[in-house]
Amino acid sequence: MTAQALQQYLDFAYIAAVVLFILSLKGLSSPASARWGVLAGEIGAALAVIATLFNPELVQYKWILIPLIIGAGVGVPLGLVHMTAVPQRTALSHAFGALSAALIGIAEYYVGTAPVTRFEMGEIALEVIIGSLTFTGSLIAAGKLQEVLPQRPIVYRGQNIVSLSVLAGALGLAVALVVNPAHAMLFPVMVLVALIFGVLLVTPIGGADMPTVISLLNSYAGFSAALLGFVLNSKVLVVAGALDGSSGFILSVIMCKAMNRSFTNVMFGAFGQVQTSAAGVQEAKPVRSANAEEAAAILEAAGSVVIVPGYGMAVAQAQHKVRELYDVLTKKGVNVRFAIHPVAGRMPGHMNVLLAEADIPYDRLIEMDEINGDFPQTDVALVIGANDVTNPAARNDHSSPIFGMPILDVDKAHTVMVIKRSMSPGFAGIDNPLYYLENTLMLFGDAKQFVGGIVRELGGGH
Ligand code: NAP
Repeated sequence: MTAQALQQYLDFAYIAAVVLFILSLKGLSSPASARWGVLAGEIGAALAVIATLFNPELVQYKWILIPLIIGAGVGVPLGLVHMTAVPQRTALSHAFGALSAALIGIAEYYVGTAPVTRFEMGEIALEVIIGSLTFTGSLIAAGKLQEVLPQRPIVYRGQNIVSLSVLAGALGLAVALVVNPAHAMLFPVMVLVALIFGVLLVTPIGGADMPTVISLLNSYAGFSAALLGFVLNSKVLVVAGALDGSSGFILSVIMCKAMNRSFTNVMFGAFGQVQTSAAGVQEAKPVRSANAEEAAAILEAAGSVVIVPGYGMAVAQAQHKVRELYDVLTKKGVNVRFAIHPVAGRMPGHMNVLLAEADIPYDRLIEMDEINGDFPQTDVALVIGANDVTNPAARNDHSSPIFGMPILDVDKAHTVMVIKRSMSPGFAGIDNPLYYLENTLMLFGDAKQFVGGIVRELGGGH
């Protein structure tokens, strides 16, 4: 085959990969098509990698094979983590992606075939800075989520000035390198300063904001890859990086909106510190509680039930029991639907994924804006391990840290039943006035066991 014909095949493979990436994002935008969206992305990535292996510029396969084996060795166990650990797993993936982008940029600077021009230096410097800060920032985010690092925001006086000065230092060094790319001594200093900035960027942010930060870091890693695409003159990398960068950015915006937070609030706020004193005071207030038998009787007598799943359902792995509850109630003629809050759980789409795993029909999953108007006509709102996303303080209490966050209006249902183990607060660390309302019944227990108990009382299950 002539070199020209081979290049045409490679270009065609790259175009097909890019089309698959775009279709993948389209597929991922709905639970019904998410599986083929993932598959399209996987095929696209495999196609791009295989096509690159046929690149005539490749001379040594040894240096590709070794990292490929190491990468697969790390990647396979990472893909098998428990669902609740996916946010920190994702943070680690971004860290590795950003590290590889930074390392390739560094290699281009030191061992590139021709001396770098000023323009190329600008590209490399920006790409290496973003890659390096994303690497350390993602590692800190993963550590916070895995709780090997303190979740609380670590703040000190004058911190923003220190952080911004470090960033300015990295950018200043980049400018100096653009002015004179031969100033090789400045390059490692610039990388080091960018790595430090990544740490300073994420340590002041609280654990509750980590998923948003991860989404933002995802977008940085994408933009860094896109810049790398310019450096390497790889169109597929430019497009894939731009898709990754912009989709991560859009997701961050959606998450901020769902929590009624601004970017600056996420980056510089100290949200997520557990307010233990507030939680302690609330313990004393009386609440009404019920057992599985009473809960089953109320559900059986209802015409319409809206189930609100949250992080607790994920931790308890209660989704299959919830499916049994859905089956038995539906058989008894009860209209059962699921209310999905955009930030329920710990990652975007968390509840959709779990309910899909339990084969609950997609048309029973209703988004927050669509279902909120139905709560006043709902007989029972059954909250399973959700807390913050049902907190009416977000609507009425101006002093609440979550004031303004859109919530599911479960308190407007005729009866609210809440399954959780205790009166402990949710991720935002604040008390929930919902639990003290007259129409609320607390069902204390582990979500899986309690739902299983209700199902048995109703004569369902296997
Ligand atoms: P949540 O407010 O964190 O509350 C979860 C509740 O589940 C806890 O109050 C806990 O109470 C209960 N729970 C834990 N284990 C349980 C078990 N085994 N059985 C029964 N209950 C259990 O959860 P959420 O309502 O889903 O809200 C999500 C929070 O995460 C929001 O603050 C949101 O802003 C934040 N967040 C989410 C995302 C995202 O992308 N989804 C991103 C960033 C931030 P007990 O300990 O008493 O059982």
